[in-house]
Amino acid sequence: MNPVDPSMINDQDPLVLVVDDCEFVHRLLHARLRSESIRIESLLHGTEAVEHAIRSVPALILLDLNMPEMDGFEILRRLKDEPKTIHIPVIVLSGQDSAEDKVTAFDLGAVDFISKPFDMTELRARIRVALRMQALLQMLAQRAQIDGLTGLCNRASFDARWQQEHERASRSGSSLSLAMFDLDEFKSINDTYGHPAGDAVLVGLAQLINKTVRVSDVACRYGGEEFAIIFPETSPSEANAICERLRVACEQIIWPKHPGRAVTLSIGIAGTNCAQGLPGAQWIETADRNLYAAKRAGRNRIVMTDLGTGNLRVAS
Ligand SMILES: [Mg+2]
Repeated sequence: MNPVDPSMINDQDPLVLVVDDCEFVHRLLHARLRSESIRIESLLHGTEAVEHAIRSVPALILLDLNMPEMDGFEILRRLKDEPKTIHIPVIVLSGQDSAEDKVTAFDLGAVDFISKPFDMTELRARIRVALRMQALLQMLAQRAQIDGLTGLCNRASFDARWQQEHERASRSGSSLSLAMFDLDEFKSINDTYGHPAGDAVLVGLAQLINKTVRVSDVACRYGGEEFAIIFPETSPSEANAICERLRVACEQIIWPKHPGRAVTLSIGIAGTNCAQGLPGAQWIETADRNLYAAKRAGRNRIVMTDLGTGNLRVAS
């Protein structure tokens, strides 16, 4: 499983969308920005700008203010109202150098304002600054989703993804499962072999999880030594089979810092073949309760509930 949203990674040159009703401006920008490491898309009609930006998700938009069908302010408003385009930086291009227009553009969320006719050297520099800021913000957004030690999704990212997957499954009535698990007696590993040994176990387990789950599964470090895996479109018995492989593989690992001491997992699973009508909290509460039932039953085992039938299964 890849912890970083693949749509956030782009190894191509950044895409710059130019929206201007004047063909000459497009020709000029294409010619004069040729040496920059960017790709350019051109739009003559403002009415298509928002839809186009939703589809192509440019890294930057250059937006003309004065256009016949829909002016730049209205487009800017719509871009900032739309979740998919709200974070795309917009540089406003204007035929007038009016302070009032500048203030309005900045208030609506533009990152820069350039008056025509533009000085190309300055425009190039401003485009570079806007793209650099955008790349930094994307990097921060990625890091904010990832647990620093294990590289898995962090708790905040889990909460967001769970809500998303639960909503999707509720709507479509598809299957959905959730596993919560905990390293058995982790505190004693830290106490006996030191915290670096404990960290090595957390990192090693994260690597094992990544090898075991499928690309569509979402693995997270839930907190401390607790982990969670979201299994979209997966029945509880399928999730159980994946978790069983994980449990067996974990107990077989020989840890370099304590080769004589195995590490085991207690796992709680909640899932259903049809997620319609069940609140998202029910999976989390049930999986958590099952995790503690697995601990009480002697650790190194899975307790699973089918939320659709209410059937409980304990396996060791
Ligand atoms: Mg114009």
